Amino acid sequence: MSKPVVAIVGRPNVGKSTLFNVLAGEMISIVKDTPGVTRDRIYADVDWLDREFTLIDTGGIEPDSRDIILSQMREQAQIAIDTADVIIFITDVKQGLVDSDSKVADMLRRSGKPVVLVVNKVDNFDKYMADVYEFYNLGIGDPIPISAASRLGLGDMLDAVIAHFPESDGTEEDDDRPRVAIVGKPNVGKSSIINRLLGENRVIVSDIAGTTRDAIDTEIVHNGKEYVFIDTAGLRRKNKIKEELERYSIIRTVSAVERADVVLMVIDATEGVTEQDAKIAGIAHERGKGVIIVVNKWDAIEKNDKTMREYEAKIRQVLSYMPYAEIMYVSAMTGQRLPKLYDMIDMVIENQTLRIATGVLNEIMTEAVAMQQPPSDKGKRLKLYYITQVAVKPPTFVIFVNDKELMHFSYTRYLENKIREAFGFRGTSLKFFIRERK
Ligand code: GDP
Ligand code: GDP
Repeated sequence: MSKPVVAIVGRPNVGKSTLFNVLAGEMISIVKDTPGVTRDRIYADVDWLDREFTLIDTGGIEPDSRDIILSQMREQAQIAIDTADVIIFITDVKQGLVDSDSKVADMLRRSGKPVVLVVNKVDNFDKYMADVYEFYNLGIGDPIPISAASRLGLGDMLDAVIAHFPESDGTEEDDDRPRVAIVGKPNVGKSSIINRLLGENRVIVSDIAGTTRDAIDTEIVHNGKEYVFIDTAGLRRKNKIKEELERYSIIRTVSAVERADVVLMVIDATEGVTEQDAKIAGIAHERGKGVIIVVNKWDAIEKNDKTMREYEAKIRQVLSYMPYAEIMYVSAMTGQRLPKLYDMIDMVIENQTLRIATGVLNEIMTEAVAMQQPPSDKGKRLKLYYITQVAVKPPTFVIFVNDKELMHFSYTRYLENKIREAFGFRGTSLKFFIRERK
C-alpha cells in the first residue's frame, strides 16, 4: 500500500532541516541502504504509532536576498501542495510572525490541503507560550509549539499529522487499476512517451477518486483495460540552478513512486545510463516497487548486433542493486515497442502480487541447502528451519534459522536466486527477513 507523503515548508532558518533530521534520525523505521546510491537527505521514512509516512524537506538551497525569499517560499509551498498529503508549515517563535508567513499561509489555505501549523524554537514553554498565540492570526488552525532542537512537542505534532491520513482501509483499495509512474531525468522523453501512449488510445484525463492531489493522473485504456499513468514531467521550472532542479525532481519522483505499483525508469539511449539515473532508480528500489527500465530514443543511436547487449551490460553495472529490473528499448518518436509496455506492466504487477505456497517454498529451500551447504562460524553451522511468504508488493519472505548471525548476506542472495529460478519474479525486488527459532 502506498504511504502518505508529508512535506515540511517554511522560511529560511526556522528549523526545517533540524526538524527533518530529528524525525528522520530518531523515528526512521527501517534503514534501507541501496549500494551505489548516494543519499542526500531530501526524504525519509518515518514511523509514528504504527503509521508510516514519507517525509519530504522542500527547503534546500536558500536564497540570500530578502526579496526572493517570498517567491522561493511560494515555490516550495507549491511543490508541497502538488506532492504531499499533509503539509507541516513551520514558523519561528523567535522571529515572530512575518509577512511572508501570512502570504504562504493564504496559499496553503486556498489549496485545501491539510496543514499542520508548527511554531518552532519554543525551547521553554513557560517563557514563550504567550508568543505562540500570535500565530492563530494565520488562520490555518491551532499553532503547535515545538522545539526541534530540544525535541519538545514532537509527539503532539505527529499526532496532528497522522490525524489527517486517510484510514488505512480506505478508498484506495477499491481502485485496482495498475498505477504506473514514469520517472527519469529531464529530457529523457517522459512526456513524449505519455503523449505517444495517449495518441494510440482513448483517453480520459481524470481526477482520481480518493486522492487529494492536484497533480493530474492520466488514465489510458488499452485493450479494454484501464491504466493510470503518474507523470513527473509536468512541472517545468525555468532559470533554476541545477541543484535546485534536481532536488525538486527528486521530491516529485518520491511522491509519484510512492503512489505507483510499477515504475517506468526512463533512460536516454543517446546519453547512456548515469549516476543520476542510479539515484532516481534507487527510489523505486528502496520502496519495493516493480521496475521496468525503459531505454528511450532507441531510434537515435547507431546500432549493430551487439548494441543491445552492450547497453544491458552497462545498465546492469550502474544499477547493480536491481538485477531483477526488466529492460525495454523503445522510441517515443517512432513508437517502436511502446505497445509492448502494457504486457510488461501486467507481468510485473502479477509478479509483485504473486504468492507462493509454503510447502513449495520449503521444498525449494531444502533442495538449495542440499546443493550448497549453509555457512558456519567457529564450529557452529547455520540451520534453516522454515521459509514462508508473509506479504506481497513486494513479495516478502521470512526464514526461520537457528542463529541469525550465521545467515550471511551471500547465502540469502543464493536462496533468492533459487526462488527466482523457480518462479521468476521478474521486475520486482524480493524482501527477506531472518528470524531465530530456538
Ligand atoms: P532551516 O533553514 O529552516 O532548515 O533551519 P535550520 O534547521 O538550518 O535551523 C536554523 C537555525 O535554527 C539553526 O541554527 C538551528 O540550530 C536553530 N534551531 C533549529 N531548531 C531550533 C529550536 O528548536 N530551538 C532553537 N533555539 N534553535 C533552533
Ligand atoms: P521529458 O523531460 O523527460 O518529459 O522529455 P520530453 O518528452 O520533453 O523529451 C525531450 C526531448 O527528447 C524532446 O526534444 C523530444 O522530442 C526528444 N525525444 C523524446 N523521445 C524521443 C525518441 O524516442 N527519439 C528521439 N530521437 N527523440 C526523442
